[in-house]
Amino acid sequence: MDLKLAGKTALITGSSDGIGLAVAKGLAAEGVRVLINGRHAQKVEAAIADIGEAAVPAVGDVASAEGIAAILGAVEAVGGVDILINNAGTGSNETIMDAPDEKWQQYWDLHVMAAVRLARGVVPYMEARGGGVVLNNASICAVQPLWYEPIYNVTKAALMMFSRTLATELVGRNIRVNCVNPGLVQTPDWVNTAKELTRDTDGDWQGYLQGVADEYAPIKRFCSPEELADFFVFLCSERASYSIGSTYFVDGGMKLTV
Ligand code: NDP
Repeated sequence: MDLKLAGKTALITGSSDGIGLAVAKGLAAEGVRVLINGRHAQKVEAAIADIGEAAVPAVGDVASAEGIAAILGAVEAVGGVDILINNAGTGSNETIMDAPDEKWQQYWDLHVMAAVRLARGVVPYMEARGGGVVLNNASICAVQPLWYEPIYNVTKAALMMFSRTLATELVGRNIRVNCVNPGLVQTPDWVNTAKELTRDTDGDWQGYLQGVADEYAPIKRFCSPEELADFFVFLCSERASYSIGSTYFVDGGMKLTV
């Protein structure tokens, strides 16, 4: 299937590692110029070296207005983008009774305001090109919460609703907006957590991850970042031209409701 993505330009937030890096590699393999984002310039440069000449840096913290301004500067330097993927994010660990306002605000800025601010910044470029694609990476936790991370659940649910609402606002401008809700994806973050949790016992971090997969995912394994990236790349392409305002689950059967 020819995805007809060659010659496009994409900004992928949080693409110096994990899912974002896999999506950037997947798009670059289709001939897309990719803007690589993360807070740490060194990690961004390492990712760029890994991807090759299709990659350019867009360093900045998506959770702050200043960081967004820096990222939009990089977008302007390449003459705009056709594709925006709001991917940067991270899990949390708290109780609603104990978490301070500041923590709620921090995650609201990271998971929701980043997507709002970047959409405002890049949509004019997409309009000038005659159309575009916005994808938001939320999580299965947006509809099926994990109880130890209420702030993550709530802010990802908000991102999902933002996605649906933005889709309606932009459909008439030929900009397709969709949301992806992954289940368990084996990123360095998960591996590090597993190594930490098993360090003082048997060190069997693979066994720990298998236990997580056995408990939550009927497929009984994690998704690889590359497996998930293929789905993102397809949604970016005009082969997905009738997909608008939807949320797609890529979760190995983890979601328990229909
Ligand atoms: P990783 O921790 O593996 O990678 C996160 C990436 O985002 C890194 O490049 C990191 O670089 C960057 N990043 C983190 N915070 C910011 C920030 N404030 N501004 C800019 N860049 C940032 O994450 P994953 O690949 O696991 O997750 C990616 C997304 O997928 C997240 O939104 C997550 O919630 C979602 N997701 C993940 C699942 C999983 O099982 N892994 C499941 C469902 C959803 P740096 O630290 O240098 O800034």
